[in-house]
Amino acid sequence: MSAAQQKHATLSFEIFPPNTQVGEEKLMGTLAELGGLAPDFISVTCSNNKRNIEETTLKVAGYVKNRLGVATIAHLPAAYLTRQQVTDILKALDQLGIHQILALRGDIIPDVPPKTDFHYASDLVSFIRETAPHFKVSGACYPEVHPESCDRVTDIKHLKHKADQGCEHLITQLFFDNEIFYRFQENCQLADIQAPILAGIMPIINRKQALRLIKTSEAKLPRKFLAILDKYEHDPVALRDAGLAYAIDQIVDLVTQDVAGIHLYTMNNATTARHIYNATSSLFGKPAQENQQILQLG
Ligand code: FAD
Repeated sequence: MSAAQQKHATLSFEIFPPNTQVGEEKLMGTLAELGGLAPDFISVTCSNNKRNIEETTLKVAGYVKNRLGVATIAHLPAAYLTRQQVTDILKALDQLGIHQILALRGDIIPDVPPKTDFHYASDLVSFIRETAPHFKVSGACYPEVHPESCDRVTDIKHLKHKADQGCEHLITQLFFDNEIFYRFQENCQLADIQAPILAGIMPIINRKQALRLIKTSEAKLPRKFLAILDKYEHDPVALRDAGLAYAIDQIVDLVTQDVAGIHLYTMNNATTARHIYNATSSLFGKPAQENQQILQLG
């Protein structure tokens, strides 16, 4: 058996802190379910234009780490933060026992000039590596090129610079066409980017989500994917089933091709994550759930 066959891909989840108290209560149930799926980690997003990070990302990440006992990565967009603010956030994370960060620049808000301490995510990666080297840092990457980038080569050069500042691994933007991911992975290898790349997969399970995606996403939507949205436009159950099957198909292909890991954009939906887990857990070397029905072999 080859080394690649022995080492399993990681399976991790992304969640976002809710905006309301009701949402927060609901999230605790969601997190308990997600934690029960034994993910390698749960990452918690952070908005750069909302409430204080202590009340949102840190609170939720602390719950994941200390109440559920699951490893967590706190997202940290830094374009609107000063070095002192980042230092304070690192201290707060230290107190929570969280030492993994997804270092981001974050989106630039129109008409709101960013601060000048962290122009790019790479500045944040090197700042954390220098001032708090016990933190593990990850970075974001874009198989279909970051929308602000003038071209693919320049984007990969910037990614190489960011990875070289000390990224443990990279997590991709969502994509629906695995061939684009494989080409990106190859380009990263050519650029000598050695950090493992985790593939970001978002299951599309309802029409609202699909329409938002079509309107806002930079991701290429393959013919097979568009056909699902078209055919099951007025059949929510079939759209959900086909959307889940599409995501599972993507995951099976990626894991079979030895992807380093799958990062599932859960949209705080534990049912979706559980469904995907039940369909693929053995591929990740993870146990079946107690209530999961297993087909008899042979
Ligand atoms: P960077 O790596 O800094 O890149 C931004 C742009 O600058 C790119 O076009 C890059 O090519 C260019 N660039 C980089 N370095 C240089 C340089 N030295 N000179 C010139 N140009 C350069 N946003 C949030 O607000 N909160 C989140 O929680 C969040 N989570 C995310 C999770 C993942 C997995 C991903 C993929 C994205 C996430 N985002 C999040 C979105 C992200 O913040 C935006 O895509 C943002 O526009 C770019 O952030 P970045 O860290 O990738 O930026």
